[in-house]
Amino acid sequence: MFPMGSAYIAVVDLANTMSMLSEPLATSVYECIECDYTVNARSEISCFAELQRLALNIQHSGTVVGIIGRLLSMKSCKLCSKCDGKMLKNTYLNKSPQLLILHLPYTEVKISQKLKFGQDTLHLQGVVYYGSHHYTSRVIDDHKNVWFHDGMTTGSSTQLQGSAVKVRPKYFNKCNGKSVALLVYAQLK
Ligand SMILES: [Zn+2]
Repeated sequence: MFPMGSAYIAVVDLANTMSMLSEPLATSVYECIECDYTVNARSEISCFAELQRLALNIQHSGTVVGIIGRLLSMKSCKLCSKCDGKMLKNTYLNKSPQLLILHLPYTEVKISQKLKFGQDTLHLQGVVYYGSHHYTSRVIDDHKNVWFHDGMTTGSSTQLQGSAVKVRPKYFNKCNGKSVALLVYAQLK
């Protein structure tokens, strides 16, 4: 399904495929804001969510938490077939995701280190970066240590970069000149 060796693949396709679930995590519905008419829709969230989309109206001053909120109740251009009212695409989670991979490339928004879904909290555990046709990553362990990985320089090991506690606001947005490709959140065990 994917090329092997040094052939190029987009990490977002890999993440999307790896995150497919046998059971849906959430239900999405178009809901009219004027009347009670609803239409079932394709679910917007699994263990992977695409955040690079116009309807989410992403501004540089935004945060990942805010964008997820808008993904769960998203503007749409669909009009109600009963009353012509505007419809929102609302997503209801059946349960909190254990793992959530977000595609928000080249982002300048504040990368929240925590996402709350009901009683459950997901923590930022990884960031994949892209630049010059090469991916690198940071892994954040349960003790908030940040580890850097680059297959070309660190090989099969990782390099300690410091603590994720009290990092400067845009710390996670860039890494050695490369920009964000994916954000990985997970519930701690
Ligand atoms: Zn309506």
